[in-house]
Amino acid sequence: MQEQEFAEYGDQYIDGAWRPSGDSGSIAVLNPATEQVLATVPAGAGADVDAAVAAARRAARGWAATTRGERIALLTRLRDGIAGAQAEITATVVAELGAPVGFAGAVHAGLPLTVATSYLTLLAEYPFEERIGNSVVHAEPAGVVAAITPWNYPLHQIVAKVVPALAAGCPVVLKPAESTPLVARLFARLVDEAGFPAGVFNLVTGTGAVAGAALVAHPGVDVVSFTGSTAVGRLVAETAGRGLKRVALELGGKSANVVLPGADLARAVNVNVANAFANSGQTCSAWTRLLVHRDQYEEAVGIAAKAAAKYLPGDPADPQTRIGPLVSARQLARVRGYLEGALAQGARLVAGGPEPLAELPVGFYVRPTVLADVTPDMTVAQEEVFGPVLAVLAYRDEDHAVEIANGTDYGLGGGVWAADTDTAAAFARRLDTGQVDLNGGRFNPLAPFGGYKNSGLGRELGRHGLEEFLQYKSLQY
Ligand code: NAD
Repeated sequence: MQEQEFAEYGDQYIDGAWRPSGDSGSIAVLNPATEQVLATVPAGAGADVDAAVAAARRAARGWAATTRGERIALLTRLRDGIAGAQAEITATVVAELGAPVGFAGAVHAGLPLTVATSYLTLLAEYPFEERIGNSVVHAEPAGVVAAITPWNYPLHQIVAKVVPALAAGCPVVLKPAESTPLVARLFARLVDEAGFPAGVFNLVTGTGAVAGAALVAHPGVDVVSFTGSTAVGRLVAETAGRGLKRVALELGGKSANVVLPGADLARAVNVNVANAFANSGQTCSAWTRLLVHRDQYEEAVGIAAKAAAKYLPGDPADPQTRIGPLVSARQLARVRGYLEGALAQGARLVAGGPEPLAELPVGFYVRPTVLADVTPDMTVAQEEVFGPVLAVLAYRDEDHAVEIANGTDYGLGGGVWAADTDTAAAFARRLDTGQVDLNGGRFNPLAPFGGYKNSGLGRELGRHGLEEFLQYKSLQY
C-alpha cells in the first residue's frame, strides 16, 4: 500500500481563484482501504455559498453572451486538461473512493473524458435556433446552476453536469460529495488552467445538510442538478419547487436484468455478476436483481456463485484487484445490515455474506455476495443496497418477469437477454425504466440517462442532458 501525503486545504475555488474559505470547519477525507485521513477540505457554509452564487450571477450575462466558438475553445482546453490528467485522476479516485486502479483508469478517469468530448461534438452541431412557422425559437441558457454530486462516480457525475451546463452558457456552483472532494478540487484546477472567465465555475466543498441545502435554497440559483439518494432528492425537489427553480434529479435504482429462455444463460449471468460488483456495487444503475426462468434457476444460481468466487476483495492500488472496499464505514454497516436482513427474511447465501473478511481487518471491505431464493417482497429485492450484492429471483413466465421487474419504486437501468435482439427489445419496451441493455448492449454516452418513477426527473448525457440547461424564447415574425 502506497503512503499518501496528508494535505490540509483551506480554500475554495470561487470567482476565478482559490480563496480562503469564509466559513469555519473542515471535512476529513478518508482512504477507505487504509482508513487513514488523506486530507481535510473546508466545510463551506453560508459565506462560501453566498460568495460562489454571487460570483456566478455576476458572470451569467457575459457567459451567456459568448459565442458557440468561444465556448467550444474553452471546453476543448478543459477536455484536453482532463486527458492530460488521466493518471492523476485515477490515483485520486483510487485513494478517496477505493476503486480498483484498473477500473478507476478506464471508467473514473476515462468516462469523463468521453463525456466531455461528446459535448464538444454536440455543441458544434446543436441548433440553438429553430424556425417553427412564423416563429424563431432561441434556446438560451437557463441561468445559474447548482450542481450537487455524489461520491460513487465522482468525476463522471461532475462532468456530466458541469460540461453541458457550461456548453449551454450557464455558470455553475458545484457542491461535490463529502467523501470525494479531492477529485472535485482537481477538476476545479483543470477549469482554472483552461482559462474560463471568473465566476463561470465555482467549487464549494461542504456537507449536504449545510452547503448543499443552502445552495438549493439560494435565491440566486435558477437550476438545481442533483445526483444522489432518492430521500435527499425529494428534499431538494421540495426546496427547489418553493423557489420555482428548474430541477433535474438522478436518483437511486434497483435495476433488473431479465434472462429470457433461449438466451445465452452463462454469458448473461457472468455479465450480470460483473455489472453488479463493478465499483464495489456502488453504481446507481447496477443490475442488482437477476431474473431467471424457474426451469433455469438452479443452473443460473450455480453460475453466479462460481463467478462471484473470482471477485476477491483487495488493495485497490494493486492492478490485480477486481474489487476494492466500500467508500465508508457507514456504507459498510448499511450493506451488512441488508445482508443480515435478507438472510433473516429467508434468502439463501450462495456466495459471500455479512461476516467481516479476516484477511482484511483494515478498510471498509465487504464480501461480494450472491443471494438466491429472493422473493420480490423481500427488502433486498426492493431497496437499493449500494454494495456488491446480487439477488437472484425466479419467474414463471414473461408476464410474471415484467411484473417483478417493474415491481419496485425505481426505474433507472436494466438488461434483457433473449435468443435474438428483437425479442429482447419487445420485452424491454414493457419495462418502466430509463435504460435497458439488450444482450449486453454497450453503454452509449450520447443516449439519455435517467430514471422513471422514483429514480429521478430529467435526463443527463447527450442532447437531452444539454437541454436540461436551456430555456426557450420564441420570437414571432
Ligand atoms: P446523498 O443523497 O446522501 O448525497 C448526494 C449529494 O447530495 C452529496 O453531495 C451530498 O452532500 C448532498 N446532500 C445531502 N443532503 C443534502 C441536502 N439536504 N440538500 C442538498 N444536498 C444534499 O447520496 P450519496 O450517498 O452521496 O450517493 C449515493 C446515492 O446516489 C445512491 O442512492 C445512488 O443510487 C445515487 N446515485 C444516482 C445516480 C444516478 O445517476 N441516478 C448516480 C450516482 C448515484
